[in-house]
Amino acid sequence: MSIQITSPPGEGPIRLYIDNDSFLYDVYGLLTAFYPGNRPEIMSEASDAQIVINVPEAPDRITQKNTLKKELYNELSRRQGHTLPWGTLTGVRPTKLTLRELDRGRSFEETVEYMKANYLTSEKKARLATEIAVRERQMMSSLHDGSVCLYIGIPFCPSICLYCSFSSYAIGAFGDSVEDYLDALKTEIKNASRVLNGRHIEAVYFGGGTPTSLSATQLDGLLGTLDSSIDLSGTSEFTVEAGRPDSITDDKLKVLASHGVDRISVNPQTLQQKTLDTIGRRHTVDDFCRAYSMARNYPFLINTDLIVGLPGEVENEVRDTLERIVELSPDNLTVHSLAKKRASRLTEQWDEFASGAFVYTDTIEQLVFDAARRLDMEPYYMYRQKEIAGNMENVGFARAGEECLYNVLMMEEACDIAAFGAGAVSKRISGTPAHDGMREKADRIRNPKDVKNYIDRIEETVQKKDKFFQLYSVKKTSSVI
Ligand code: SF4
Repeated sequence: MSIQITSPPGEGPIRLYIDNDSFLYDVYGLLTAFYPGNRPEIMSEASDAQIVINVPEAPDRITQKNTLKKELYNELSRRQGHTLPWGTLTGVRPTKLTLRELDRGRSFEETVEYMKANYLTSEKKARLATEIAVRERQMMSSLHDGSVCLYIGIPFCPSICLYCSFSSYAIGAFGDSVEDYLDALKTEIKNASRVLNGRHIEAVYFGGGTPTSLSATQLDGLLGTLDSSIDLSGTSEFTVEAGRPDSITDDKLKVLASHGVDRISVNPQTLQQKTLDTIGRRHTVDDFCRAYSMARNYPFLINTDLIVGLPGEVENEVRDTLERIVELSPDNLTVHSLAKKRASRLTEQWDEFASGAFVYTDTIEQLVFDAARRLDMEPYYMYRQKEIAGNMENVGFARAGEECLYNVLMMEEACDIAAFGAGAVSKRISGTPAHDGMREKADRIRNPKDVKNYIDRIEETVQKKDKFFQLYSVKKTSSVI
């Protein structure tokens, strides 16, 4: 037996010993799934540990990893008296596995059985991941050869949410630096136009942060630079994360529509005022309703994001929020499970929120899927995070033909991404097909994360990007979609 639990984990950090720390990430993922909120401590001596893991021998690393995870899962599940919906899977993208199996020629039912047997996933989750993969395959079947998606990041928000771990800053604190940031961003966009020219732009995503934290004039200037720099005439969608209702005005919506934006998000996260106050959104339920109906005056497809598991929210409150969302009838609905992320205030202040947060019951899950069904929507993309409420997932729902292609391409790493702005990560996808849930080879280049650093180092960033994309045009044939 390669797993020994010498004394049951209690209140404090689990004392863990592992004889091969290259598997630590996988072990850590399972431990935190069974013991939410616990941060295991790594022991250098087995004799000091509560859980001792000797990684089993196997012919290859993948078999070794899967054997270890299954053994650990079975042991923890036996001790805790419950299973996990996603079984041994701890990665972000379960649909990479189902996509791979469908690509290998397995039928829908065979893929479901494969997920259950190899990763101990529940029937429900195996079906969800397979169903989504079928839809994704269909969406990805019409991609243009060698195409690229654009991502433009605005790292500002009206205020910072409790659970936020993005590098986003309260815009009020930045004053004149916002203009400097936009100048740097425009420099990047203009530069990229030289090396991207000739490539088909599949989708544009303007995120962050909250792009609509900018003024209407600033948005107009930035989108104008994009229009005049890059040919977007064949682009299938242009999305802007309007996100925070308190950042949306009619002037800004007009600007977005005039530049060809056809999808936006207006995100309440919850329609319970007490929760909005707790999570620091600084907008009211009425603000959301006003922003949503204002946006309905324009021909945008509208997505609304919700989060389940927010501090203090019980089933009836989630039910109430979903009822009101169904009445509004958005075009897309994205339901996240609250995640405890390292860089968030939620994690810093976990003791304050732990007891009332992370409630994601089977009933709530049923309510979410019922609401989507009543809206005539099906799940079309998903991802998971570590330390996520109910050990569930984040799911995007849409009516047929109204899915956001960018979400799918980004999640499946199926298309190159040219990304602009502080902390933005550009990717070039190439190499062999996914192997056991590992992504295709993705070369990456990340812009400086800190806003001031990004502004100060823009020339250097531009030169690096030049090289990155020019290298692509030399190796154009290596792109795999
Ligand atoms: S709106 Fe999004 S990016 Fe902005 S602070 Fe909240 S979670 Fe972070």
